[in-house]
Amino acid sequence: MKKSRTVGILGGGQLAKMLCDSGKKMGYETVILDPSSDSCGRFGADEHIIAEYNDEIALKKLCEEADVITYEFENVPSEVINFLKRNGGNVPQGERPLYLSQHRVREKSAVNEIGVRTADFVAVKNLETAKEALTKIGGPCILKTCSGGYDGKGQWKIQNEEDLNSVDWKNVEYILEKMVNFQKEVSCLVVRGITGDVVTFPVGENIHKNGILNKTIVPARISENLQKEIEELSKRIVEKLEIYGPLGIEYFIEGDEVYFNEMAPRPHNSAHYTLDACNYSQFDIHLLGVLGEKLPEVKLLTPVVMLNIMGEDREKVDKIVLDENTKLHIYGKTEWKQDRKMGHINYCGENIDKLIEKANSF
Ligand code: ADP
Ligand code: MG
Repeated sequence: MKKSRTVGILGGGQLAKMLCDSGKKMGYETVILDPSSDSCGRFGADEHIIAEYNDEIALKKLCEEADVITYEFENVPSEVINFLKRNGGNVPQGERPLYLSQHRVREKSAVNEIGVRTADFVAVKNLETAKEALTKIGGPCILKTCSGGYDGKGQWKIQNEEDLNSVDWKNVEYILEKMVNFQKEVSCLVVRGITGDVVTFPVGENIHKNGILNKTIVPARISENLQKEIEELSKRIVEKLEIYGPLGIEYFIEGDEVYFNEMAPRPHNSAHYTLDACNYSQFDIHLLGVLGEKLPEVKLLTPVVMLNIMGEDREKVDKIVLDENTKLHIYGKTEWKQDRKMGHINYCGENIDKLIEKANSF
């Protein structure tokens, strides 16, 4: 490993913190750029540039200090990436993964074009076009804003035309998607390093609560064939769409059919299990990938259940009893707020049912 290299990270949340922790372990220095002075990335980073993402002086400083620049959130404006590049910044992932993943119609159209199935969808702009779209694909559907949505925000369930009246039609672009009657939601974290090496992590089974990820169970309780198919699909997506760096991809499973749902070009909450259950974590492979190192083979060392800790869980955390197979991660956010991700627990062990039981009794 080359100790002298410095990784710059746009964004300073928990994903940045865990990237920095990984960098420290492998001998890389890290510098984060984030507007908030108390963002939790500061606990891991060697340096914290406190500035807005469009602050040109700060961006130039990042270019000077970092040998490689990456990002920990998908809403980085493309102008920022272009500015960094014009000023000598090395951003190996570029703006393509951002361009695709920042817009639901764009990402779904792109994967359809390479033969990956999604729910039927139509781009809509207003009530009028939504009515036409609903007639075309048939209910039940789900209407989503094309950009900026997360944790189920900016979404409306649509059974019939009447439901369209309850939509907040202030955004310009929406997508109307046919509901998939899935049995499972799963995800796969894949990294394509800049050398072209591709690594996939084992598929995780995701359980949501109020639209927010609650648990990830690994291995996912689906057939080995489906697990393999999903890893292959994920590889195909990064290769065919020419995406470099990490990509967290969410899928629905209905019977034997796999539907792509969405993707994010950054470490993914559903792959936090890799910190304790794999030989290399998603953060390790992300860094190695953007630094152009050869990517090692990734192995699952133990079954695992990852449980998210939310702001409303503060008192439970104070009472938690840890054991040698239960690993607690707290991000160090200053304010414990409802629905805010504050940390996670990885329950490792042989018996998945027992791990789920343990997680449920948290
Ligand atoms: P977000 O960016 O908020 O995570 P998603 O597209 O993942 O947006 O949607 C949030 C959740 O809503 C999904 O995890 C899934 O449970 C449900 N959902 C989204 N799209 C569909 C669909 N087409 N069919 C069925 N359920 C869906
Ligand atoms: Mg999602």
